[in-house]
Amino acid sequence: MELTLNSTFELNNGIKMPILGLGTWNLFGNSAYKPVIWALEAGYKLIDTATIYGNERKVGQAIRDSGIPREDIFITTKVWNSDQGYTSTIKAFEKSLKKLNLSYVDLYLIHWPVTDLRNDSWKALEEIFANGKARAIGVSNYTIRHLAEIMDKSSSTIPCVNQVEFSPFLYQKDLLELCKNHRIIVEAYSPLTRGRKINDPALILLSQKLGKTPAQILIRWGLQHGLVEIPKSGNKQHILENANIFDFKLNNEDMMMMNKLNEDFRMGDDPSSYE
Ligand code: NAP
Repeated sequence: MELTLNSTFELNNGIKMPILGLGTWNLFGNSAYKPVIWALEAGYKLIDTATIYGNERKVGQAIRDSGIPREDIFITTKVWNSDQGYTSTIKAFEKSLKKLNLSYVDLYLIHWPVTDLRNDSWKALEEIFANGKARAIGVSNYTIRHLAEIMDKSSSTIPCVNQVEFSPFLYQKDLLELCKNHRIIVEAYSPLTRGRKINDPALILLSQKLGKTPAQILIRWGLQHGLVEIPKSGNKQHILENANIFDFKLNNEDMMMMNKLNEDFRMGDDPSSYE
């Protein structure tokens, strides 16, 4: 099926998740407001925030001011490491809802697999889901080992989503395959490598061949792998550019060439350090 800006992936609990969203890391406070408005005006349906980004209030305000019906927007936030554990996660979630000024979020994630606390945090997320305050729950920065740990507990809900760093330069093939086998959607953060690899010579060549920018090609590569992509931008032109990716396709040869760019390149911390 052709992908469009309105395309969604179905999560393992039946909820539909838009395939493209706006990342808001590094858009502190007020600086998040306009980008969220621009993105919603451009047709983005997903906004990714987190308590640690310090912008939940402004993100919530922009969502309300956009005039777009709440149910047409998919909002993700995350519990930060210092709030992990059962009771403190419940409290942190309530604070996030208050800051966002919303009655529910679409997706609530454990931000990092904090050692000794993550399983209690997960119980809190299950409770939040059962109470209808998050339409879906998931994890972030979970490696294969962390996912195996959750899935080993037969009483546990399988996460709907695993949000991890993912780009051709960090092509986590085994993690993606495991997630696909368990119907866990992989959501790619830092899909543009925060700009670090945007001038890679192979990308530039492909960009010239296809008449699309390196950023557009990186996002398209992720979508064609079945990932949800959440490029961040505080720049209106970039926000428009990053959504203008539905008028071309990467062929098998292009995809294979890009897959080979893998060099385990990370901008963020390596989550395998969490025991
Ligand atoms: P990213 O999306 O890979 O890159 C963002 C950078 O690329 C910004 O400097 C942005 O600058 C630039 N950019 C955006 N569009 C561009 C374009 N078309 N051409 C050239 N440059 C462009 O990095 P990210 O912010 O790390 O990741 C995306 C989102 O994932 C975050 O915002 C956050 O929501 C989420 N995230 C989650 C975690 C986690 O632990 N779960 C960790 C990191 C990030 P301008 O603003 O000037 O456009």
